[in-house]
Amino acid sequence: MPSRIKYALFYDFHTSTIIPDVGRRFDVETFTDQLVACGVDFLTWHARCNQGHAYYDTAIGKRHPSLDFDLFGQLVASCHRKGIKISAYFNGGLTDQELLEHRDWMRIAPDGRTLAAPEHHPTPAVRAVCYNSPFRDHLKAMAREVAAKYAVDGFFFDCMMDSLTCVCPTCATLMKERGINFRDPAQLTQFTRASLLQLARELFAEVRAINPDALFFLNGCLVEDMIGYNTQLECECLPTAAALGYDYLPVHAHYLRTVAQGNPVLNMTGRFYEWGDFGGLRKPESLEYDLFYGLAHGMRPELSDHFHPRGDFSQPVFDLIRPLYNDLQQYDEWCDDAVNCTEVAIVFPKPGAPLRFDKPLRAAVRMLSELKVQFDVVTHAAPWDKYQVLIFPDHINFNEGTTERVRQCLRRGAAVIATGDSGLNEDGSAFALQEWPVEYMSPSPHNPVYFQPEGELAAGLPELPMSFYADAALVRPAPGAGVAMRIVRPYHNREWDGLHANYYTPPDAVTEEPFLAIKGRIAYLAGKIFLGYYRRSPYQLRLLLGNLLRRFLPRPLLQTPTLPSFARAAVQKTPSGSILVHLLAYTPELRGESVALEDRATLADTEILLRLDGRRLTRVYLAPERTPLPFTVTDDVARVVLPVCNGHAIIVFE
Ligand SMILES: [Zn+2]
Repeated sequence: MPSRIKYALFYDFHTSTIIPDVGRRFDVETFTDQLVACGVDFLTWHARCNQGHAYYDTAIGKRHPSLDFDLFGQLVASCHRKGIKISAYFNGGLTDQELLEHRDWMRIAPDGRTLAAPEHHPTPAVRAVCYNSPFRDHLKAMAREVAAKYAVDGFFFDCMMDSLTCVCPTCATLMKERGINFRDPAQLTQFTRASLLQLARELFAEVRAINPDALFFLNGCLVEDMIGYNTQLECECLPTAAALGYDYLPVHAHYLRTVAQGNPVLNMTGRFYEWGDFGGLRKPESLEYDLFYGLAHGMRPELSDHFHPRGDFSQPVFDLIRPLYNDLQQYDEWCDDAVNCTEVAIVFPKPGAPLRFDKPLRAAVRMLSELKVQFDVVTHAAPWDKYQVLIFPDHINFNEGTTERVRQCLRRGAAVIATGDSGLNEDGSAFALQEWPVEYMSPSPHNPVYFQPEGELAAGLPELPMSFYADAALVRPAPGAGVAMRIVRPYHNREWDGLHANYYTPPDAVTEEPFLAIKGRIAYLAGKIFLGYYRRSPYQLRLLLGNLLRRFLPRPLLQTPTLPSFARAAVQKTPSGSILVHLLAYTPELRGESVALEDRATLADTEILLRLDGRRLTRVYLAPERTPLPFTVTDDVARVVLPVCNGHAIIVFE
């Protein structure tokens, strides 16, 4: 039975040892009354923080030295009196205080250091643990202690990262026994990953032995390794944080639902701008965008706040959260259990860390979102059989498993769009599929590379050699393939030739080298257009991708001819069979060093065309007020015009 979490809050409560008055002003009932007013049903709260302090009565860990009562225990009791589930946060990778006393628990990094550049990085991650040290049993004992002592509903384990590789004597001995070469970074990461996965699964067993229904989540990038253990997924995204940005949530919103196994996916964002930022309060419109974006993709809201260690009550924070959550609650009757309807997949079979920050993937998600295509991001952990088009962005090599799955998709009539090096076998020497429209020769010798738009797939593009701001593969057409567009070579490459700076590189002549080749239902673009779009976002590349998609998907589920590129649209199906169309009109804007989102945009007369797939439409209206919208149906496609959309709208097709 999947866990049911609808309105979550998450508190950061990492407290320096030198804070003298932890909990001194905390009034638990006032605090939990505010949770009730927000409609919160799930709270995550620190049992032990990343400084290594506990906030409960512990016989095993170290309670914060200035805390003189059981703060966590009071909160658990009060939440339960008010019908709120509470999950215990445990930092499982960092601890300052305990490592001062247990030097043998410390991680030794491959460069021999135990401290990560503390003067340059005063982050909590200066001192980390070794997952194979006695810390392992210590952490398990603390989790057991909390599970046994308090009726907590779940556990959240944080900062257990495979990037925290360790070469301490314990780890070195284990690696020698297992024949692992600690000098090879890949083997070392794999070893660390195995160590922390084993620890995470042991933690799961410990808490489940005491509470068989305990919720469980391991934060970080090991989502797929924890299938069967995680009871919900939590997407830690703070778009204003420089490390994540506004492209992070879209990738994860389209991906996590494909590996969630029916469990809730929580959309974690923060009232602040950066972690550790106690004084930041984002504008309601900014948080509203995060939350409605999540809702449009089946994610439940999980706002984060910093708990003031003294317990100072932050009324303005609740005055921000409460109306946002109350607003969302008006849509429950439509959005509860609604699932996204998708027909295109971006295939990115590299789960974990690569998926979090890949530039071509981010660009592919952006382009399809701007085109209003309904899509998922999939790895090997999800089925691929419902998609009509599979897109392989720029650098997706095909191993045997990928090749076989692509072959199956082609056999059932799906189409494939691949760019750059995608489709090459694992050593990059040749394309893995015989049916491929081109044969591989080498990386393109040109720099820069242009292409010549021509033919019907160039609709909307100028008849001008066009840049795509990335490199390309040099290929030749395979027998039976059609070359739709060709590469244009420059007069010379951009380079210093020893005497001249040959910087200005005009296009010279169209070559015979394919830029776009098609054979059957495989389209191959030699240029890495997704990386190019990430770098310069030339709209013509999006037009080109849209033209290709239209060839393979001539009757898409949703068309929104008047929506601007910055707006977003998502289609969901409710359990009762209604279709929801979510519209979002917000524009994150570059302001100095930061990206800000402060305002709703207003859209007028938005035309929406929804393919009905044979469904009979009885009425169309705007939620939650149920304002009727006139509609027409032609050729199994419903047409509705929404007069005004102020930021966001949910249109119900019943
Ligand atoms: Zn170690």
